[in-house]
Amino acid sequence: MLQNFGYLAPKSLAELYAVLKKNSGKAMILAGGTDVLVNLHNGCMAPTTLVDIKKIAELGGIKYDKKNGLSIGAVVTCVEVAENKDVIKHYPLIAKAVGEIGSPQLRNRATIAGNICTGSPCADSSCALIALGASLELSSADGVRTVFLKDFFIGPKRTQIKPEEVLTRILVPADMAGANFGMNKLKRIKGHDIALVSVAVAKTDKVMRVGIGSAAPTPIVTKDLAPNASLKDTLAAVAAVAKPIDDVRASKEYREFMINDYVEQIYSDLFNGKGR
Ligand SMILES: Cc1cc2nc3c(=O)[nH]c(=O)nc-3n(C[C@H](O)[C@H](O)[C@H](O)COP(=O)(O)OP(=O)(O)OC[C@H]3O[C@@H](n4cnc5c(N)ncnc54)[C@H](O)[C@@H]3O)c2cc1C
Repeated sequence: MLQNFGYLAPKSLAELYAVLKKNSGKAMILAGGTDVLVNLHNGCMAPTTLVDIKKIAELGGIKYDKKNGLSIGAVVTCVEVAENKDVIKHYPLIAKAVGEIGSPQLRNRATIAGNICTGSPCADSSCALIALGASLELSSADGVRTVFLKDFFIGPKRTQIKPEEVLTRILVPADMAGANFGMNKLKRIKGHDIALVSVAVAKTDKVMRVGIGSAAPTPIVTKDLAPNASLKDTLAAVAAVAKPIDDVRASKEYREFMINDYVEQIYSDLFNGKGR
């Protein structure tokens, strides 16, 4: 049974900051609601007030320019991201990753910011964005700070965001525009499902990084690798950060095997068959 809770829908950022300050620790942000509403029904969350941010125009929009890169607003849905021409042209890895989230119905509703803020180790967008070196703009009445996505996660479903803060924009650096990429997601079924493991590689002529989901308490990324790093060095960098566990969905050994297999597959594709 649902417990009682209040509902507020501020129409501006200033109003949102005031609401979050007044209800600090008791309010929960509602974006697409695909995660929040399930958890409310299950009784896993019990906020006093839900703060719906979808009516805040300042949180919309996808912007791209050569100097600053890509900026995605907090209420932009996964479908809007996947269909955006700048995302498709300059950051196709992001379009691929959001296309992996749930079903078409879910992607029409869910936001990419909400996917990150769940703090889930298997969030599909996090795995790709972390490989692209993305950062997050976190805002509150006290000001704005920017944190790298790789530093945002502090444990399973735990992030750095403070009770009075909101993730306002996702920022992807200009120097990763046009990155060559590959992404594989292992699921229990052919249809939509959360990842048993996922691997995303982003490579430019300056750097290569591997982002990995469901392989540690948080989404993880390798150190920056040289763009011509050998497969052996790439696998060693992955092994240095990946710490998968046994759980009801897969064993540690199976996860380790599939992470390596996916890295080899993607490496082979990126380096014209030299990986295998
Ligand atoms: C059937 C089903 C299938 C799913 N499949 C997948 C899948 O394949 N892959 C996957 O990665 N996920 C999956 N999910 C999880 C979920 O749908 C996604 O994580 C979704 O992207 C969450 O976005 P949302 O806008 O709905 O977030 P919400 O549910 O609104 O919010 C999620 C969390 O983020 C917080 N939040 C949201 N926006 C902000 C913000 N701007 N600032 C601060 N905090 C914020 C909320 O308070 C809440 O804690 C699935 C869920 C369901 C129900």
